[in-house]
Amino acid sequence: MTGMREPCVQTELDLFAASTFEELLSARQITDITVTVTRRLRRGWHATLNHHTGMRSLHVPAFLETAPAEVKQALIDWTLLLSHRTPRARTAQCRTLERTVFAFIKSQGLETRNRMSADPRAYVTRGRIFDLAEIFDAVNKAFFEGGLSSFVRWGRHPLRSFQSTRTDTIGAAYNLITIASMYNRPDVPRYAIEAIMYHEMLHIACPPTIAGGRNVIHGQEFKRRERLFPRREEWLAWEKRICKHITRRG
Ligand SMILES: [Zn+2]
Repeated sequence: MTGMREPCVQTELDLFAASTFEELLSARQITDITVTVTRRLRRGWHATLNHHTGMRSLHVPAFLETAPAEVKQALIDWTLLLSHRTPRARTAQCRTLERTVFAFIKSQGLETRNRMSADPRAYVTRGRIFDLAEIFDAVNKAFFEGGLSSFVRWGRHPLRSFQSTRTDTIGAAYNLITIASMYNRPDVPRYAIEAIMYHEMLHIACPPTIAGGRNVIHGQEFKRRERLFPRREEWLAWEKRICKHITRRG
């Protein structure tokens, strides 16, 4: 069987397949992506976008170093799509690129983990009056120099807003902010939604500290920064009023 093959054709194919990430990036004159091979990664890949510098880092498992150029190009394009804005708009394009990579991973006899059901781009952000993605972007710009990155969604519980870290379908960690449904009412003032969003975003900017063996979530630094929100008192008064109404407590 092997005698039938043209050796030079085989060589050419090998050369093409061996294009490195660096070669592909420089051929496309892309200078804001760095690719790191991470031994820790087994099957999935992930990328991060530094909102301050605009630099993107793509982390790939070792076996993707030898992937065909087509697969590497898909990973580069996927990294270029990273953005904290309008995440849902990218779904179709992202998924097409992910399919190319998954097909290669499968062809290598490696199954991709499918333990997470959540695709972070599928969260519903549009509410009755406000779109949480838009609120997030505005607060991010006004208070965090656009430096935070998180997905946002409406919660089902009327009173519970919280921030969490999750893992997506390919094993990459991301932030998720859930806003209580009491804020999804037609009479909600914009400052109240912005205030609760600011509070949850502060949890990302100001992570818990350990003091005396205990997790301090709303520590001194958190409280100091929380007071920087201009309409904080109005927000707390509004929240108290609405909570009373929802819980029918005195
Ligand atoms: Zn909190």
